[in-house]
Amino acid sequence: MPNSVAASDAEGSHLGKPNLAAPFLPQAVPITQVVLKATSACNLNCSYCYVYNKGDETWKTQPGLIEDTVLDQLLERIRSHALQSGQGEIRFTIHGGEPMLVGPTRFRDWCRKIHKALGHLEIFIDIQTNATLITEAWTDLFVEYGIEVNVSTDGPRAVHDRYRVDHLGRGSYDRFVRGIDRLNDAGIPFGILSVLQLGEDPVAIHRHFVDLGCSAIGYLLPAETHDTVAELRRQYGPTPCADYLVPVFDEWWFNNPMTVAVREFWNIARLILGGKTLLDSLGNPPIRFVGIQPDGAMESLDKLRVCEPSFADIGLNIKTHDLKDILATTGVHRDVMAGMPLPDGCKGCREEKTCAGGYLPNRYAAATGFNNPSVWCADLYKLFGHVRMRMEVTPDQTHDLRTRYAVRNDDQTQLEGALQ
Ligand code: SF4
Repeated sequence: MPNSVAASDAEGSHLGKPNLAAPFLPQAVPITQVVLKATSACNLNCSYCYVYNKGDETWKTQPGLIEDTVLDQLLERIRSHALQSGQGEIRFTIHGGEPMLVGPTRFRDWCRKIHKALGHLEIFIDIQTNATLITEAWTDLFVEYGIEVNVSTDGPRAVHDRYRVDHLGRGSYDRFVRGIDRLNDAGIPFGILSVLQLGEDPVAIHRHFVDLGCSAIGYLLPAETHDTVAELRRQYGPTPCADYLVPVFDEWWFNNPMTVAVREFWNIARLILGGKTLLDSLGNPPIRFVGIQPDGAMESLDKLRVCEPSFADIGLNIKTHDLKDILATTGVHRDVMAGMPLPDGCKGCREEKTCAGGYLPNRYAAATGFNNPSVWCADLYKLFGHVRMRMEVTPDQTHDLRTRYAVRNDDQTQLEGALQ
């Protein structure tokens, strides 16, 4: 991990502010993904949403829609960043709020603009949606631009409608299923993102997702910090996430033909076999994406909002700063981009190189910053152990595999060198 200076910054949980005089990598570290907050509005009002209902109110100060000048400036920044880094691709993750509120006509204009400005790069576009607004005009657009679709849901109707309600308090399941039907009718593969519904039947929920016809599933651990987790523990016991995911893993391992990719399981398996994680929520990788708010404000990891209001704000704006400037920030944002130092409490753990402390927001406590194992530590330990048992790979074997294949994140090596 980078160095002790970074560790003490993390302990103090300082907000990083730009230090543009500090050394950074003008060429070596490509930013390969932009998370574009297309709109700050949403047609739903899910009770657990970290954007609207976890205490952060920065969305209220944002324009409803990303400004044209912001998109134009962003594309120019990406073009020049790619020239410097030599990267050959860029991914746009279109997020919100609910990005489909912008309508397919405007969205098509954005896609045209992106391809026109960055035609020399391989362009990937994906969209994160609640699926309630999908029409044929949208599915035509998805096909035309090869847009990958990820939908958010919680489970069968009763589970979905408990939290995923509109602003009148009405459940959204019927509208969600109508959108899924349109995707299936158009032959468009889609992934599902779902927050673990503790206390529900996890295998029934998993089977429901498979029955909807998805091609991939992402299971999100609840966005709790050490300051907020007590109530869930009181309700669901010491390892609620592992108790949820272990039966799902066995269902996936034994009963599904694995045609549906469960991204957490794939990535745990990759880590156990000595490989790199492809998820920012596992294995503590350096981050290679930048978030862009509708007014052009840049952010690192937007889920840091659950730690403290405005915590994702880094004080930079795409109108006035280059993408690479995010790498020159200090404090927590620098650590987020470089890979946060391993928490002291994880040193010596069997999974310190695989789990590596868990997801950053889950490590946070107001008193100690990010220098804590995940609030879901016991769950992660148990889940990794279960996957190891099924795969018959011991921690020593993982260590041997990592050594044999000299597994090292090249980006991280570069950053460590540059930041020392
Ligand atoms: S299982 Fe717990 S102690 Fe081990 S690396 Fe993960 S969070 Fe740290």
